Amino acid sequence: MSFIKQQVIEDYVNLALNNINSLESKNSCYFCFRTIRKEEIECTDPEGETALCPNCDMDCLIPGDIEIKVLRAIHNKVFKVKKDSK
Ligand SMILES: [Zn+2]
Repeated sequence: MSFIKQQVIEDYVNLALNNINSLESKNSCYFCFRTIRKEEIECTDPEGETALCPNCDMDCLIPGDIEIKVLRAIHNKVFKVKKDSK
């Protein structure tokens, strides 16, 4: 499942942070894999810089309509890493 390079995954993860000004009409959550329309987004982080997914409340919204296989690869990498490091 490593058809995407680590660097590319990090780039996507960065797109999900401080994304409030880069949201598109469709956005993709790499936690719950939903496609989220911009008007569905209601919550941000306390600083108001990162939009949270209205479905799962995670800061995992990547602007744009991202392929599901890409989202899954990001999910697997990110949440495996987080479990080990914290
Ligand atoms: Zn979500």
